[in-house]
Amino acid sequence: MCGVFGIRSEERDVSRLAYFGLFALQHRGQEAAGIAVSDGGRLTVLREIGLVAHAFDEQQLQALPGEVAIGHTRYSTTGANKWANAQPLIHHGRARTVALGHNGNLVNVEELRDELIGDGVKLASGLDSEVIAALIARDPAPLADAVAATMARLEGAYSVTALVDGTLVAFRDPFGFRPLTLGQLGEDWVIASETCALDLVGADVVRDVQPGEVVWVDEEGLHAAQAVPSGRNALCIFEHVYFARPDSRVGGVEVHGARVRMGERLAEEAPVEADLVIGIPDSGTPAAIGFSKASGIPFNEALIKNRYVARTFIQPEQGMREQGIRMKFNPLDEVEGKRIVAVDDSIVRGNTMRQLVQMLLDAGAAEVHVRISSPPVVSPCFYGIDMADEDELAAAHRSVEEMRAHVGATSLHYLSVDGMQAATTLPEDSVCRACFTRNYPTSVPPKVEKLRFEPAPA
Ligand code: SF4
Repeated sequence: MCGVFGIRSEERDVSRLAYFGLFALQHRGQEAAGIAVSDGGRLTVLREIGLVAHAFDEQQLQALPGEVAIGHTRYSTTGANKWANAQPLIHHGRARTVALGHNGNLVNVEELRDELIGDGVKLASGLDSEVIAALIARDPAPLADAVAATMARLEGAYSVTALVDGTLVAFRDPFGFRPLTLGQLGEDWVIASETCALDLVGADVVRDVQPGEVVWVDEEGLHAAQAVPSGRNALCIFEHVYFARPDSRVGGVEVHGARVRMGERLAEEAPVEADLVIGIPDSGTPAAIGFSKASGIPFNEALIKNRYVARTFIQPEQGMREQGIRMKFNPLDEVEGKRIVAVDDSIVRGNTMRQLVQMLLDAGAAEVHVRISSPPVVSPCFYGIDMADEDELAAAHRSVEEMRAHVGATSLHYLSVDGMQAATTLPEDSVCRACFTRNYPTSVPPKVEKLRFEPAPA
């Protein structure tokens, strides 16, 4: 996934505001965090593996003065989880130096890498993001033209903030797969993956960066240009299902409201006689509230989640599955003797749901009816979500009944594609739903290996 942030201000403490912005975007990536700051001449970058709160301290932030800052929270889809792959990355090219943070995934990265390497460009990382930086950095054209020329070469998903020669730059692929929003803080301009980051720094939401658009902020203010034509918009519908924070507005729609409506639709499409509706915290909760509202079955909390289990957390060994799920969830007495409707946003690999159902049954639940507020995930994502291998998707080769048996539930139902779409209130031709429908808005490579550009182990 990843979160990106950018701000330009001559008055404000831009590195501190970038830190706060990243804090609001922590849910988009917990593997690494970084901030790059420029004072016009000097460019400084701080990157660390781990959570935002651990990556920077007061002293470090004070040592990052400047007028422009960009930030990044990382969730790896290309390249390993290691310090060298943390962002913002810096690339020194023939024409300029580019610091850049990227949310998304390129689908034509192989040919671009080959071309750059063939031209003698040295790539320091296994990131597709560095390819974007390298293309901009070697182009002698004026900055906006160099970005536009680069965008014309890229295929796939990219929402980017960059810092080049004291200018804040942001651009978004012509399909608009990943969100990117523009805000204003007094006279200053702020850019963020989600509106929740603009809210946190006190900025007003102005508008989305449009698909195919580049915006840049220099000492003269904000500039914008349609860099590449945008045909069909394809905002990732999974942002509304799971990724985005519920208090964000994505594509102009509040995510929490969309999730509640998904739960309401689900109750209409797949009713059940039961005593209690519970949400799988946290992302299943809004849909559970909607399911309860539409069905009249009371909602209550019944699973307590430990919110401090990050992706970088040391995982228990294979044989310690029980501890694995217990590290995240613990049931309350509330479930005992009850017919439970357990609502979650999606099933990807299926292991967690199977363990949760067993946990609820062990805690005394009489029945566990699983309701999923999105359709079955049947196909991989090539646009920045780490589920690239179809074999890992539990529903790819199973019927709904086989999935019910797989997770051990009393019954299992998914929300229909139409129901999900209606809940977002967005037009069908403005979103990507490919992992549910197999209809990709772009050509896609046959198979993608996440670590394909990493050096082989010695
Ligand atoms: S394939 Fe799925 S996860 Fe990927 S962009 Fe499309 S809707 Fe989002």
